[in-house]
Amino acid sequence: MILILTPNIGPESTEYQQLMDYVSRLENIQLRVHREQGTEKSVTEIYLIGNTAALPLEDMKNLPGVEHVVRVSEQYRVLGRHKADHRPTHFDYRGVRFGQDTLHVFAGLCAVDTPEHVEMMMKALRDNGQDCTRMGAYKPRTSPYSFQGHGKACLPYVFDLAGRYGIKVIAMEVTHESQVDEINEALNLTGHPTGVMLQIGTRNTQNFELLKSVGRQQEFPVLLKRGFGITLDESLHAAEYLASEGNHKVVFGLRGMKTNSGDPHRNFVDFAHVPVVKRLTRMPVCIDPSHAVGTRGSGPEGILDIMHVTAQGVIAGANMILVDFHPAPGRALVDGPQALLLEELPRFLKDIQIAREAYQKRHALAQGSSTRN
Ligand code: PEP
Ligand code: MN
Repeated sequence: MILILTPNIGPESTEYQQLMDYVSRLENIQLRVHREQGTEKSVTEIYLIGNTAALPLEDMKNLPGVEHVVRVSEQYRVLGRHKADHRPTHFDYRGVRFGQDTLHVFAGLCAVDTPEHVEMMMKALRDNGQDCTRMGAYKPRTSPYSFQGHGKACLPYVFDLAGRYGIKVIAMEVTHESQVDEINEALNLTGHPTGVMLQIGTRNTQNFELLKSVGRQQEFPVLLKRGFGITLDESLHAAEYLASEGNHKVVFGLRGMKTNSGDPHRNFVDFAHVPVVKRLTRMPVCIDPSHAVGTRGSGPEGILDIMHVTAQGVIAGANMILVDFHPAPGRALVDGPQALLLEELPRFLKDIQIAREAYQKRHALAQGSSTRN
């Protein structure tokens, strides 16, 4: 059960103290307090964990300082959608809103290689009105002999260049909790010219200790990729690990499943799950067409498969697109064969706009018919 308090109630208020006095005496119930400091108001949620079935909803609603009560099911307690659950389906970071109703494109390098390529990428994004990107510094590779990413050495110039070209958020994978400290140090060193969304890759979806440590920090939002060979339910529980430790700023990423049924694509594209994740949880949903498709193959009409599946995800309501681009894919150190070219960026963005408009029309149509029913 979650007690959502009236906004701006602080621990020093009499109401809060009366409430805590009452709930801390409930038998076999543990408490977990979560406080979210927004720009205008702070919201406090008190999670009652244990046997809450016997607690009458009305009585809990009437406790001092309580605005709303949500009875949660065991499933995805924090990030899930529950009955009469009016908690938000968005969060804000560095002035950018990530929600189940917004759409952001994170086009960029799978792996940072040279400062020149990073700058060319950032410039192309700025020239095309973009303020988010992806930049891999820590790369989890199948072979220990493959390039593992430049790591902390590249962070200062990546952050500096991002700031110079107006990039507000960089999605960046971390494979170990020490890398979060390295990112923090580099941001401090460069004066916080940009923000970072920590990415947990598909190989680490069930690395519970990593999830817990990334969940304990609330500075950076997190993009959690679905595990490539586990059920959706297992991946959603992995997201819940982040939230149960305190970080509720989580985006869920679909990137295809490992199965030969997806051949000749690198993975079997799973973007039909966009609306499923949106109805089960309050998380914005990201699609990664590059790692899903993995090639630059195209249909007879000349549309790249990567663009086809992007459109499929967007028309189903996706909220974020993580996509590999490279100024010279032949020289990319990781995943060159699936990278789109900088000159393809305007067409890619236009294609997304067409799909987004179609989604918005479909959304309006569904709303119209649900009010008539
Ligand atoms: C990536 O986005 O660079 C990546 C490695 O993706 P995934 O974890 O989905 O394979
Ligand atoms: Mn990659």
